[in-house]
Amino acid sequence: MKLTEIDLHKELKKYFGFNQFKGLQEDVVRSIITGNNTFVIMPTGGGKSLCYQLPALVLDGTAIVVSPLIALMKNQVDAIRSLSSEAGVAHVLNSSLTKTEINQVKKDITSGLTKLLYVAPESLTKEEYVHFLREVPLSFVAIDEAHCISEWGHDFRPEYRNLRNIIKQLGDVPVIGLTATATPKVQEDILKNLDMSDANTFKASFNRPNLFYEVRTKTKNVESDIIRFIKQHKGKSGVIYCLSRKKVEEIAQVLQVNGVSAVPYHAGLDAKTRAKHQDMFLMEDVEVVVATIAFGMGIDKPDVRYVIHHDIPKSLESYYQETGRAGRDGGEGHCIAYYSYKDIEKLEKFMSGKPVAEQEIGFALLQEVVAYAETSMSRRKFLLHYFGEEFDDVNGEGADMDDNVRNPKKKIEAQDQVVTLLETVRDTKQLYKSKEIIFTLIGKINATIKAHRTDAQPFFGKGQHFEEKYWMALIRQVLVDGLLSKDIETYGVLKLTPKGETFIKKPSSFMMSEDHEYSEADDEAVVT
Ligand code: ADP
Repeated sequence: MKLTEIDLHKELKKYFGFNQFKGLQEDVVRSIITGNNTFVIMPTGGGKSLCYQLPALVLDGTAIVVSPLIALMKNQVDAIRSLSSEAGVAHVLNSSLTKTEINQVKKDITSGLTKLLYVAPESLTKEEYVHFLREVPLSFVAIDEAHCISEWGHDFRPEYRNLRNIIKQLGDVPVIGLTATATPKVQEDILKNLDMSDANTFKASFNRPNLFYEVRTKTKNVESDIIRFIKQHKGKSGVIYCLSRKKVEEIAQVLQVNGVSAVPYHAGLDAKTRAKHQDMFLMEDVEVVVATIAFGMGIDKPDVRYVIHHDIPKSLESYYQETGRAGRDGGEGHCIAYYSYKDIEKLEKFMSGKPVAEQEIGFALLQEVVAYAETSMSRRKFLLHYFGEEFDDVNGEGADMDDNVRNPKKKIEAQDQVVTLLETVRDTKQLYKSKEIIFTLIGKINATIKAHRTDAQPFFGKGQHFEEKYWMALIRQVLVDGLLSKDIETYGVLKLTPKGETFIKKPSSFMMSEDHEYSEADDEAVVT
């Protein structure tokens, strides 16, 4: 079919039964069918699959879809087959296939029957497959979960790094990258690694206005606090996330003993038990699933009313993904994270055995979690800023949906301190991350400061009337306000933005609120 003749709405109806495109889908589909490299950033549930499935079905040739999860690939293939009368319309190519099955896949591709071929990244490196795929007409290569390409993503997979080379061997085919989590740093990594800086980029908003965000101090009473919350929400479905399998089992038991119907879910349970517990949750035989991150992949229960993090997660990407499972139907979704700095230290300790580069990234991501937990500004604004999105915390949708906005801390005028901070960034030649900037402000020396002789500068110690914690809070708020930015290359070096430069010349009122203080917790006590 000629591209100009394609009636997209008709094809949408024909294959998927939908009358309308969702969000940016139509623009994405047009970009793909006209042969452009395309980059799609949409939150989970945004409808990413259709963005490449529809073009694949209407274009000539086979589309290759790279996806890291075999189980999900199988689901997708089954779903596409159900849309078509031909089973050969979609295939999975992986190492579990028999020789006969592989031959059938090849036959269907060669005859033009197969529109979508799902492959795991490691299968795509196989010489035999590359050789074959080079000889057949391809419409495009779609890379699902594209953040796996970046060490700064929450699920780095080294085999994703090879993809660009392999795609090059396949000829001149358009590349489509898709992801549900992308900070500006990860976005840049994806575009760079896939060599598609020319891509048409489509980014949907990550705002979930119906989710209420809250952080609570994690004390030794955390379990009874959770039980109270669940009982107040009797009859509603919720997920409780813990970091370890042991904790999952423990909490599930505590809940059961206290009369809450709850089941555990983690990768240590056998497949049958996992499937059973998942079904019990979906069918509402139990109210609560206590789970590790293993729970959630592909779960689509629309009326999860709360997501509780018993343990704070390792990154805000994970936090966003996991809380994103609440309120899919647009109804209430309460997201509570229990926070204690002790948990952060535990996570840091876990990381200490890893290679240095990985540790650095892990620490930086963790610092963002700390910043989110401790901030007293709009949590939604903070989260969305993390994903590179501006949010109007006065009039934006869902602006009042967090604990900080509902119970604001008293704000204090910080105009002069903002100027001092910005000047310090400028005077230290925009070379420092927040730690060194704060040290310079309060007059504290470390190796970097000594090496640069910053301690001999007249501005050294200019902000010593305020504490380290105050400056940290101010930096976070100034960042979200866009007066400073974090350099993408170095992830963390503070740079003045044009808005920041203007502020130095023409300062104006800047109301800040100090961060929360969370007291130390001891969560060893078990409630019965
Ligand atoms: P993602 O991969 O972004 O998480 P999916 O592709 O799984 O999202 O789509 C999420 C849900 O939205 C699916 O149930 C899908 O059937 C539905 N959906 C996708 N596009 C449309 C549309 N145009 N109209 C109605 N529902 C849609």
